[in-house]
Amino acid sequence: LHRWKSEIQKLLNFDEDGEALLDISYASLSPDERRRWVEEMLDLLSSTPKPKPRVSPSRPLPSPKSSRPPGSLDDPVTIIKGISSKTARKLERLEVRTVRDLLYLFPRRHLDYSDIKPIAKLEVGREQTVVGTIWEAAEKVVGGRKSTEAIVGDETGTVRVIWFNQPFLAKKLKVNSRVVISGKVNLWKGRKVFSSPEYEILNSEEEELIHTGRLVPVYPLTEGLHPRQMRRIMKEALDTWLPWIEDFLPEEVKRREELLDLPDALSQIHFPESREAWDLAKRRLAFDELFLLQLGFRKKKMEWQEEGAGPVFRGELEPVREFLDLLPFALTRAQERVLDEILSDLRAPKPMCRLLQGEVGSGKTVVALAAMIYAAASGFQTALMVPTEVLAQQHFEGICSLLGASDSSSFVRRARHPLPLRIGLLVGGISQKNKEEIRRLISSGEVNLIIGTHALIQKGVEFKNLGLVIVDEQHRFGVKQRLALWEKGRRPHLLVMSATPIPRTLALTFYGDLDLSVIDELPPGRKEVKTRWLSPSHREEVYRFIRREVEKGHQAFIIYPLIEESDALELKAATAEYERLCREVFPDLRLGLLHGRMSPAEKEKVMREFREGRYHILVSTSVVEVGVDVPNATVILIEGAERFGVAQLHQLRGRVRRSEHQSFCFLIPEHPSEEAIKRLSLLERIQDGFALAEEDLKLRGPGEFFGTRQSGMPDLKMAALTDLPILEAAQREAEILLREDPQLAKEEHRKLSCELERFWRSEAIWS
Ligand code: ADP
Ligand code: MG
Repeated sequence: LHRWKSEIQKLLNFDEDGEALLDISYASLSPDERRRWVEEMLDLLSSTPKPKPRVSPSRPLPSPKSSRPPGSLDDPVTIIKGISSKTARKLERLEVRTVRDLLYLFPRRHLDYSDIKPIAKLEVGREQTVVGTIWEAAEKVVGGRKSTEAIVGDETGTVRVIWFNQPFLAKKLKVNSRVVISGKVNLWKGRKVFSSPEYEILNSEEEELIHTGRLVPVYPLTEGLHPRQMRRIMKEALDTWLPWIEDFLPEEVKRREELLDLPDALSQIHFPESREAWDLAKRRLAFDELFLLQLGFRKKKMEWQEEGAGPVFRGELEPVREFLDLLPFALTRAQERVLDEILSDLRAPKPMCRLLQGEVGSGKTVVALAAMIYAAASGFQTALMVPTEVLAQQHFEGICSLLGASDSSSFVRRARHPLPLRIGLLVGGISQKNKEEIRRLISSGEVNLIIGTHALIQKGVEFKNLGLVIVDEQHRFGVKQRLALWEKGRRPHLLVMSATPIPRTLALTFYGDLDLSVIDELPPGRKEVKTRWLSPSHREEVYRFIRREVEKGHQAFIIYPLIEESDALELKAATAEYERLCREVFPDLRLGLLHGRMSPAEKEKVMREFREGRYHILVSTSVVEVGVDVPNATVILIEGAERFGVAQLHQLRGRVRRSEHQSFCFLIPEHPSEEAIKRLSLLERIQDGFALAEEDLKLRGPGEFFGTRQSGMPDLKMAALTDLPILEAAQREAEILLREDPQLAKEEHRKLSCELERFWRSEAIWS
């Protein structure tokens, strides 16, 4: 059989059915099964290839049940027939509150029950559907479990059906009633049987199936909400509401981009007629998301950049030049170019919206500082926001030392060169009294540069004259937070800095409102980080390697993944490992521990001590991911490496790139799946962050690309950002539309304008 297999395949150009049959080991079959195998094989050989299903997404929708709309899409779900307030509470756990939420709760996948077979032709091991009559149905104990057993027959034969643990079904399945059964067929004691299949009782032959005999939707569920109930609810909602749904996309957009109408798309995304119809529906819904995103970004940018609305910087450039002269190094060409771009934005009469990308260590902070000095020279305040308190602390210290600022307190310092400056730090960990003092200094304008975390955009922080906002490592900041900050001053200039190299397509999607600057050159003398992934069995070798590096006078990081579900678990995992390492592996070395549960002051203390060389090894959860700078560290070991995104791993290994010595990165996945290995191998091969990002994006979706949900990226349900054509279509159409109607004020764009407003307001989008 094996010898024939490829011959047969070549001859017949088999589809999946044939493949499945060929994959069975003939020798292991019983005589009975062998006979059936041969029959099926002959059947297959004599049958002609199946024609492709025709796509007819324009199937007429159900006509309205009444002449008036059933209500508003924003009505609570309880308005839908069959949804009690109890069910509504369950739906709420899925973040479904309104009718619209429900219609946009898309199936996670579909079960393919479209393969309808006469009973005699049922094949073992595959999902199939039969339409037949109940011959008998009774409650029975099967394998110790109360169950229902039925015999279903059609004109070709009968088949046994067992529903385990569902004795109550016996009463529902009346003898002689017509049923549809969908599921996998097994062999049991030599006979074919459906076990716990989906079923549907047919009242009339025209009835539209929702659980069986088609592509059947599988919804995300929550406790107490059953798949069948969910499908019934959804079908009811669709039948009632689709005829009344207004399509917000202008006709010519749909025509140009060949998109389905919205009601068709919604209908087909839930209960598709075919795979092809589902694809078309998905394309339309994905387009919607990207289009609304693009449109929103562009419109916001237009509003922000209204002529004359921003602060105009007219200061002398002399202090900036002086600052650069004081630095112990010369800027790279890339830094100079980017600084020029930023300075000319700052001098222009419209507010800057710029994304500055550059690898960890490419020198973004220095450039940002130059911009901030220019702001001060022009009489404006700058706010620098960073995602973590550790990083805020480090930026504060680093900037103070670059400016030669002297200690007046732990949270406000003074610098004299290149111009008199006050630099402040505002983070959650500061005492209430000190916070108030800083706020006062901010509102009186005495502090020129204020560095902080999200605390900066919380209520109670009023700036005297905020002219420039710099957001570092912004992929941790939601777009929403970016917008919130904007409201603090009168349209300050915005510089967003990211160390995550973002592929151009994604940058255009998520930062459609930002101009792009890239520092694509590292300061001279930076070496590559030699990177290897190893299976857990090689851990001891890595420990020995770390020990040798420490003996040479270097330091090391050992990183554990964040356990997102639970701080407590994370703490436990990190502490347990820390204790094990101290006791069993490196009893003679000094180890520090850093984790997310520590107070900012504790974190800062540990980081400082590590930088000062008090520890040989820092054991940490991924809180060190961003920014933290320890030039003497040459090795990083990352445990549970498959739990990190490629971009994140690249960031982490950037921690040891600061060293002038050769540095090393070891990745140990806990469960090295094939997919994980592919990604980890990318890191071995590629050092350039942008190239890595492009490769990673090809392997995985963009959602994962950014790590986790906390990335602050819009949470798109349908759009696959790897799908460049849809993205380009969305960009193209947004541009055309806004050129023609910048305010979306025309009557034919009214619905679109409302939808845009709603989309951007929606909490669910901005995670
Ligand atoms: P990023 O913020 O992009 O990660 P930083 O601005 O923190 O990078 O710079 C990383 C390190 O490199 C800092 O110690 C900084 O002083 C130094 N540095 C920045 N620019 C240069 C340069 N042109 N030449 C040499 N060292 C530089
Ligand atoms: Mg940085």
